[in-house]
Amino acid sequence: MDKRALRARLLELHEQLTSRLQRLDRHLHHRPEPLPADSEERAQELENRAVLEGLDDNASVELVEVEHALARMERGDYGVCERCHQAIGGERLEFLPQASKCARCAGTRS
Ligand SMILES: [Zn+2]
Repeated sequence: MDKRALRARLLELHEQLTSRLQRLDRHLHHRPEPLPADSEERAQELENRAVLEGLDDNASVELVEVEHALARMERGDYGVCERCHQAIGGERLEFLPQASKCARCAGTRS
């Protein structure tokens, strides 16, 4: 496992998520237009907002995970499952560099 490459990917991901959130934020909060009077348009507008809010949520959750992974890298416990303390497979980290649990633990939600 190449930690430097993974760290670079995490930093890149961090930047992408931050700018995505900033864009979504602008879109969501800096456009306080009244809803259209037409009920069909209004439904469409509300749907758009719900979609954006959903994206916002996903990106925020992911950003927290990425920051968490970077913090763990600093501490030196990156790549170790937080739950069972076994090594997280390199393949899984390649696929999901912010993973904090091994595939088995991540799959069992409790
Ligand atoms: Zn585990």
